[in-house]
Amino acid sequence: MPLVLLGLAACRRENAPRVFSGAPVVLVSIDTLRSDRLPAYGYRGVETPHLDRLRRDAILFESAWSPCPMTLPAHVTMLTGLLPPEHGVRNNVGFVFDGARHAHLPGLLRARGYATGAAVSSYVLRGGTGLAALFDEYEDSVDPRHGTGFGDQQRPGGVTLGFAERWIDAHTSSPFFYFFHIYEPHVPYDPPEPFSSRYRENPYDGEVAASDAIVGALLDHLRATGVYDRAIVIVTSDHGEGLGDHGEEQHSILLYREAIQVPLFVKLPASRRGGETVRAPVQLADIAATVAELTGAQAPATVSARSLLRLDGAAGRTLYAETLYPRLHLGWSDLRSLVDGRWHYIQGPKPELYDLTLDPQERDNRAAREGRELERLRAALARFPAGPSIPAAVDAAVAERLAALGYVGVARERPAGAGLPDPREMLPLLERMKEGFRLASQGRTEDAIAVLREVVRAQPANVEAWIRLGQLLVEIGRPAEAAAAFERALERGGMELGDVLVELGQARLRNRQPAEAAAAAERALRLVPEKAHELMARVALARGDLGTALGEADAAAAGRNPQPASWLIGAEVRTLRGDSAGALERLDAAEARARELGLETVRNLEALRADALARSGRTHEAEQAFRREIAAFPDNLPAHASLAALLFAEGRRADGRAVLDGMVAANPGTRACQAAAVTLRAVGERAGTAGLVPCVGGASSR
Ligand SMILES: [Zn+2]
Repeated sequence: MPLVLLGLAACRRENAPRVFSGAPVVLVSIDTLRSDRLPAYGYRGVETPHLDRLRRDAILFESAWSPCPMTLPAHVTMLTGLLPPEHGVRNNVGFVFDGARHAHLPGLLRARGYATGAAVSSYVLRGGTGLAALFDEYEDSVDPRHGTGFGDQQRPGGVTLGFAERWIDAHTSSPFFYFFHIYEPHVPYDPPEPFSSRYRENPYDGEVAASDAIVGALLDHLRATGVYDRAIVIVTSDHGEGLGDHGEEQHSILLYREAIQVPLFVKLPASRRGGETVRAPVQLADIAATVAELTGAQAPATVSARSLLRLDGAAGRTLYAETLYPRLHLGWSDLRSLVDGRWHYIQGPKPELYDLTLDPQERDNRAAREGRELERLRAALARFPAGPSIPAAVDAAVAERLAALGYVGVARERPAGAGLPDPREMLPLLERMKEGFRLASQGRTEDAIAVLREVVRAQPANVEAWIRLGQLLVEIGRPAEAAAAFERALERGGMELGDVLVELGQARLRNRQPAEAAAAAERALRLVPEKAHELMARVALARGDLGTALGEADAAAAGRNPQPASWLIGAEVRTLRGDSAGALERLDAAEARARELGLETVRNLEALRADALARSGRTHEAEQAFRREIAAFPDNLPAHASLAALLFAEGRRADGRAVLDGMVAANPGTRACQAAAVTLRAVGERAGTAGLVPCVGGASSR
């Protein structure tokens, strides 16, 4: 064979995929990262030196797409190679992944002798979604913060990085697969320094820069431990972010390019093909097929995924995306879409067709002018599986118990999008809801409630508005109305929402309906076991059954990956049983766990410590613990009130009043005033004093 041909053959062999048996595999997901906000994809507004360096070692996929603008469905796709209608997780809530029914990448790699680990940064990816069962170790101890929405519960990527580095260090001598997830670019856009100052005008970019630093630290760690060069490293995102481009600020409602186009870098061992760019359209589902091929693992069986390293003839392939969020959460039509090399077809009440080559901003809907393309893509979309759109139903035994307790119709099927409004046209309606949320965040609770009541009157299928309304009604002490709002949320969504069920149970309990609270806890048990056990412990406390309360409290803390907060109820029950020493021990354990997780404070921890100390006569230490609680959580009214009561009991009346003054000053509105009045009455003091002036007249109307 002539030398030239030999060279070509060698070249071709070099390009052909080969098996890197036992190569470490690291999958990095930077949540909510739009590809067109990265320098590697041509953006100039941010500096990402670490991703730029990776780009030189990696193949860059110019046109990579997510199957869903939501965190959980998109990540299940990455980890299985299956589209949402195939793997069955169609929404962030209400669906659980069944790893026993579907093949998944961690399992396929385990069959090849791999150890598997993961660390995630958002409550949306908590292990209870079914993901923990796929890995040997799944680090998801994200602290649920008080008073924030479900999607806001996250931890800094730097904390997640610490877990990742420790796990990887322990596994460098054997084949391993690690899934590393950070949440920085997701709202709130609040980057740490120096990125906060550097990107003051564009905090989303600041979060992208912060993400670059965290991923850079992980890659440096892989280099330092000798893993990087032989590893397969994949960096991508689960979906993009609207940033207002088509009226959506965040993601999940619409399917335009900015919401579903994602970055994708694939670094092979020894940086083979480093610096190459691939133009053919690819999708997140291809990741699992690619890793399987590269490691010699069995490929996942899927309708559409293929290896990213074998894309010959792939230019014309069509890539699927969907969002059921508008239907499940807002009562609007769901959307489906197909992308090919040139066109983006969005199927909803009004079909849309965009030419991505001429009109990448998707401003000019050509559906009426390009009938042939529209028909071709409509037919292609119809060939994708429809999948189950009923959210996870409760199992038969539980359903029977619920029916006996008066709960019926927990999940129902509705025709897909039939006759429902167009999300794009409805989007402005959400402004009023956002106004309600904004008022709530400013402490203007009554005003927020008024706005949200108006929203649910106009949009009774708005699950988000019902949930927030319920939470605010709890805050102002109207638990019966709150429970009714939570029930509307559950009915309208037709989904079993674990967190909402727990909030419903708490409201029922506050309304002195322990049987109804217990029923809600039962329904939540499968979805959010720790929180459900905690609720059951509170029900038992309300019934004066300290023995059951102790058992449930300890069950709440016995989860796979306990939160520090889940130890608190155990401490509380022990204090009530007269076991202050046991309570203090429990609180020390919670504090140690918090430190391990990088949490500086845990709500109520110091208040419970103060209570246990006070009951053992250690009043000086109790006072200090209360003051620590108040410093960290100035909105913790019971902590202020208990400290004041302690001081009054010691005869320190001026100090007690000063604490109540501080509470009222730090918490504008009627609730703090009421709490101060109740405390003063309880200790036999007269209410009217100069210090509590804001409570007389003016402020009480807020
Ligand atoms: Zn996400």
